[in-house]
Parts: sequence; structure tokens; C-alpha cells
Amino acid sequence: MNRPAEPELITFGCRLNAAESETLRRLADGAGLTDIAVVNTCAVTAEAERQARQAIRRLRRERPSATIVVTGCAAQIDPAAYTALLEADRVLGNAEKLDPAVWRSLAQGPRQRVGDIMCIAPRPTLAVSEQRSRAFLEVQQGCDHRCTFCVIPYGRGNSRSATLDEVVERARTLVRAGVSEIVLTGVDLVSWGRDLPGSPALADLLAGLLHDVPALPRLRLSSLDPAALDGVFVRLFATEKRLMPHIHLSLQAGDDLILKRMKRRHSRAQGLEIVARLRAARPEASFGADLIAGFPTEDEAMFSRSLALIDEAGLDFVHVFPFSPRAGTPAAQMRPVAPAVVQARAGRLRDAAARAQAAFLARQVGQPASIVVERSGRRGIAENFAPVILDRPAPPGTIVTAWIHGLERDALAGTLLAAAAA
Ligand code: SF4
Repeated sequence: MNRPAEPELITFGCRLNAAESETLRRLADGAGLTDIAVVNTCAVTAEAERQARQAIRRLRRERPSATIVVTGCAAQIDPAAYTALLEADRVLGNAEKLDPAVWRSLAQGPRQRVGDIMCIAPRPTLAVSEQRSRAFLEVQQGCDHRCTFCVIPYGRGNSRSATLDEVVERARTLVRAGVSEIVLTGVDLVSWGRDLPGSPALADLLAGLLHDVPALPRLRLSSLDPAALDGVFVRLFATEKRLMPHIHLSLQAGDDLILKRMKRRHSRAQGLEIVARLRAARPEASFGADLIAGFPTEDEAMFSRSLALIDEAGLDFVHVFPFSPRAGTPAAQMRPVAPAVVQARAGRLRDAAARAQAAFLARQVGQPASIVVERSGRRGIAENFAPVILDRPAPPGTIVTAWIHGLERDALAGTLLAAAAA
């Protein structure tokens, strides 16, 4: 089946990739490229790479005449492997994919254009994936840390930040376009500002943004490194009601020796302590975390400390990652846990996570909630990140109040009370 000649984007991985894919679509359009398909890859797990290869082969079958471009972190880290794929016409690095000149000269250019991301790392593009109601805004790129399981720095380069002025300008544009909630994204969001004059901190960005864009109803944060959250951040979280009461932390594990072997910058106790401080500052807040199951050398006792973290920290949303050895990382050289044990532990974490999320949702019943309405008009997101299904449609992008009267599938069921602000 031959598909219509129009730019097609297939995106894997994080919100950053999602935001950048919107930019890639505009760049392809701008270069007048129609019969083109772009696969924006992720390198965080072997599974993500397997799915990307599968998508590339399927695209070639379904669109034999299309130009297939492969980019993203997997292509940046191992360009030769993707250039060797006969189905791929062009392989672009993470810097090259954001360069309009590369798209204008795509047809004449070499099959592979992948530079050294550590040298030519582009500044954040302030890429936005906009869904009328909520926009993911990239304000930081790359990472200066070298956690032993992670390949992201090799795909994204070192940390660099968009300036406050650039972010404010972008946010004003989004608010004028009717966006009610901006989600700030980055690879290592807490390191925003370290590369800027005076080394401002993330809290400075948040305070500046909320001050300079008073019309922005809701500001949300993507994943945060617990090690970098200080008293200034906690105070801001306590006082700024437009900063959404939901914090997602990259905790990764609940055992100190495993955290040390991961080269994380926090201990189990410090992880618990920052959650407790943030919860004391904002009792209505919800908490999420990333947890890895089956990191090399993890034994049952170590794993049980990760499992227990879900209840001890009172986590409501948990993203579980079965450990996936990545070539070139120190963790790939460590004594592995048997794959079946890795999967079994991931399953136990997911079961505990599902129980925690169900309990969290059940606690919302019998209360009102302020919800940003998403594209469908019937679903939305509450301030504490709970998904809500409305009993009747409301205009996408608006903020409404609903009475939470029960649960519906994996979400809350809400009776629409009033439209707050368009
Ligand atoms: S902080 Fe660690 S896990 Fe996160 S992107 Fe950087 S190296 Fe990877």
C-alpha cells in the first residue's frame, strides 16, 4: 500500500524527542520535502532501538519511493549501524537534524551527516510539541553527568540552556496561541542555567517565567534529579500556585550501593527527604519517579529496598525500566542480573506502582478538581497530574472545574461544573 507523499514523523523516546519532531516536520515542510519519512530514534533501551529498526523496514515496504531519514540519539551514537541499513536514505545527527540548511540540501548531501555532539552541541531549540492545550517546551539540552547505565550524554552532548529571555518570549507566544499549560522539558532540567552567565538555577527560571508571563495559567515540570533540589526550589514550590503540584523524580533505585554503582548523586535517605520536604511544602502534591529493575549486581535485598521505596516515599506514579545494558556504558561491564530475574523484578515494581496509582486516584474521589482540557474535549489533566474523563465535552485548551465522583478505566470520572478561564 503506497501512502500519500507527505512528511511523516515516527518518534521514539522522551518528550524532548517529541518536541523536536514537531520542529523536524516544520523543517521538512520548509524545505519543500513531501515524500519523506523521518524516524527520530531513542537509545535509552535496546528495545527502543529494535522498534526503530522495525519501523524503518515497515516504512520502506509501505512507502517505497519515500526518502527515509533516520535521526535521534541512536543514530547519533551509532551512525554507521543506521547508515548500513539499506532502507535508510539519510542519517542525521542530533545537531544536524535541527539545521534548516541540512534539510534544504538533503537530496544532494551525503548519506550520513553526524557530527561530534560533544563539540558542536546546538543550543536548545525551544522546540515545542503543542497540543492546543498543553505544550512541551524544551529549555535545556544534554547532560554533564555520566550515570553508569546511561548513553544519553553521548547522544545529546553536554548540558546547555536556553536563556530566560528566550524562554519567556516562547512562553508568551504559546499563551497568546491559547496554550493553558506549559511543560518544561530537558535532558537534565535541574542543570538549567549552569552554562549561563551568573549560573542561575532552575528556581530562577521558574520564578522569572511566572513573573514575566502572568497570563500563563499553569507551569509543569518534567523529570527532576532529586540531588539538585534545594531550599530555594522548595520555597518556590510552596508559594507559586501556578507551578503544578506534581513532581517526577529520577530516583532510579532504593539501595545506596546500587545508587553508588549507578553514579547517582543522591542516597536513599536523601531521596526520601526531598519528597518529604516537598510534600510538607505542598500537601496536595503528587509524586512520580523513575525506577530501574535489575541493575547489575542487584540482589534480592537491594531490590526489596527499591520496591519498598514506592510506599515509603508515597509515590503515586512510577515509571519502571527493566535494566537494558547499553554498549559503551560502565554498567554494561558489570556482573549482570539474569534477564528472567530482571523481568520478574520489573513486574513486581509495576504491580506495586499500579496499586499506588489506584490508591492515589481513589483518594481524589469526592473532591473538585481544576482540569486543563485536552484535544479530545472529554479528557484532561488535573493539577496533580491525575487524568480525568469528563461527563460532557469542554473546549480543548480551557481550564474547567469538575466534581470527581468516581473512577473510569485508568482515570478519574468528573462531572463538569464550570469553565474556569479560556
Ligand atoms: S543525569 Fe544521568 S541518567 Fe540523566 S541523562 Fe544524565 S547521565 Fe543520563
